[in-house]
Amino acid sequence: MVKKCLRCNADNDDNAIFCSSCGTRLSGARPGILGPRPVGADLASRASIGFVMTIIGGFLIVLGSLALSYISTFIWGFATPPWFATMPSWAPVLIGIGLGMFVIMSSVLIYMPGYEALGGILGIVFSILSIMVLGGLIFGTILGLLGGLMAVLKK
Ligand SMILES: [Zn+2]
Repeated sequence: MVKKCLRCNADNDDNAIFCSSCGTRLSGARPGILGPRPVGADLASRASIGFVMTIIGGFLIVLGSLALSYISTFIWGFATPPWFATMPSWAPVLIGIGLGMFVIMSSVLIYMPGYEALGGILGIVFSILSIMVLGGLIFGTILGLLGGLMAVLKK
């Protein structure tokens, strides 16, 4: 015996509670047996790609900041990029770690139901700001930017 989904018309097993095709609760399923639709199914359709890209971008920005004096010395021969020349060498490192942490916090917002767009916009802003600390060799900046865009588009 099969149970037809009212929404997409797919055939489902008679014992099925949710449609195997579209996830809609099937009529005749005993309510309360699993409560409302499982949270995991919703999270899967949430801005999960944006979340992953943004959190990796944030960690790359933190790592790049920790290595900033090595990277700067390699490129410019000084422990800080030229635009930080008036600051002590630890200052841009701290700024970079802070920006990376903000990008990571933005990714947490992206993961939270209803906050995808806000997290995405914050992720984009902090990723752009991280260019000043070379944004994890720019890979962190690019990932954070794309992840933020994906979140705004709810991908
Ligand atoms: Zn269905």
